[in-house]
Amino acid sequence: MTITDKNSSMERHEHNIRGVTILGSTGSIGINTLDVLARHSAKYRIVALTANTQVDRLFEQCRRILPRIAVMLDPRAAAQLKGKIKQAGLDIDVLSGVDGLNAVATHTEVHIVVAAIVGAAGLLPTLTAVRAGKRVLLANKEPLVMSGHVFIEEAQRYGAELLPVDSEHNAIFQCMPGGFRAGVPAASVRRIFLTCSGGPFRSTPPEALATVTPEQACAHPNWVMGRKISVDSATLMNKGLELIEACWLFGVTPDQVEIVIHPQSVIHSLVEYVDGSVLAQLGNPDMRTPIAHALAWPERIESGVKSLNLLEVAHLDFSAPDLEHFPCLRLAYEAARGGGTMPAILNAANEVAVQAFLDRRIGFTEIPRVIAHTLSNLPASHETHLDAVLSHDKSAREMAGSFILAREPRVGQGVL
Ligand code: NAD
Ligand code: MG
Repeated sequence: MTITDKNSSMERHEHNIRGVTILGSTGSIGINTLDVLARHSAKYRIVALTANTQVDRLFEQCRRILPRIAVMLDPRAAAQLKGKIKQAGLDIDVLSGVDGLNAVATHTEVHIVVAAIVGAAGLLPTLTAVRAGKRVLLANKEPLVMSGHVFIEEAQRYGAELLPVDSEHNAIFQCMPGGFRAGVPAASVRRIFLTCSGGPFRSTPPEALATVTPEQACAHPNWVMGRKISVDSATLMNKGLELIEACWLFGVTPDQVEIVIHPQSVIHSLVEYVDGSVLAQLGNPDMRTPIAHALAWPERIESGVKSLNLLEVAHLDFSAPDLEHFPCLRLAYEAARGGGTMPAILNAANEVAVQAFLDRRIGFTEIPRVIAHTLSNLPASHETHLDAVLSHDKSAREMAGSFILAREPRVGQGVL
């Protein structure tokens, strides 16, 4: 081999390496993504890592992974990170704010953007990645719930690939017919079964729900996740958000989606075809499987997930969800059927209520009350463009916030 041959073969190799940005690298999905990527350093190069305020965690990741760029949303945290990186003699650029997130979502060396920020905060950088025509791995479900219409349309316009990482949606994607594209209904699909573990309070007596603590709500039986999604899993709002997510991703109506409680979390979801065939995707409950699938699709790569032992699983149980004791799911069905800005209002009120519960300002059973109040007092619009969505997101946050404030006991109240 001549030097030129060697160089061009090295260039070819460089060319085949896929650049990756992880939006939200310090979170649960971010850390699982890093674990999968570490197994495939010849295939993927981590160009950028981002976080909100966790300086020490992001610095530790920077030292270990040496990305080209690190972004912190918070400018003060970014300044601290910059100091640490300089002191350690590392060659990593530090950016801050939404502009910084947008820069790494569109960077020319980046092919894959992993959307792993929690909540509506991920909307703009994820949409920016879509508009830059990237492969976008969607873990962050809230932006799709708020503005699925915009995401699907923009992905088609800019040639972006939207690949679901949420385990149920990744399972459904794996069971869809060949050639399927996000948002385009498949005529041969009759129904989708969305499986749900039932969360930590599946068997809790309903009268005990009012006094459960954030710690109990965050102790999920099958998955270790961030605190917001853990509370959503406990109220079943997570399944409600996933219902809306499924409608957008798979071009189905809410009535084509059946939610089934499946406590083992082994079947991650199922697709029923018009001929009566039902396809399912199974595996151990470990987010590295959907992450690896979406990173490499249509190829398959090792994820580090252990093999499923069906004999140990032994039983696969199914039951209907209890909409009376878990009203968040009913509210989500209403928002999904209502359409327009209703899902954005639902999502915003839920984010505010969950944070108030985590801050011990309201009880667990107050969460659906805050959402129901906001949904019934803020008139939704049929418009689905981004301005309408963002304006209703803001109004819903204000309304939910005032409702919580009005219900809180005043300091000194009742004290003589
Ligand atoms: P997490 O709380 O563990 O991590 C969130 C990440 O986002 C962190 O890196 C944090 O620094 C960053 N972040 C938080 N607020 C931010 C802001 N305002 N701006 C910029 N960055 C911000 O959350 P998670 O459990 O990893 O979940 C991430 C998303 O993936 C959520 O939307 C969740 O619903 C979805 N998801 C998670 C799981 C799971 O197993 N954890 C499964 C399916 C879907
Ligand atoms: Mg899920």
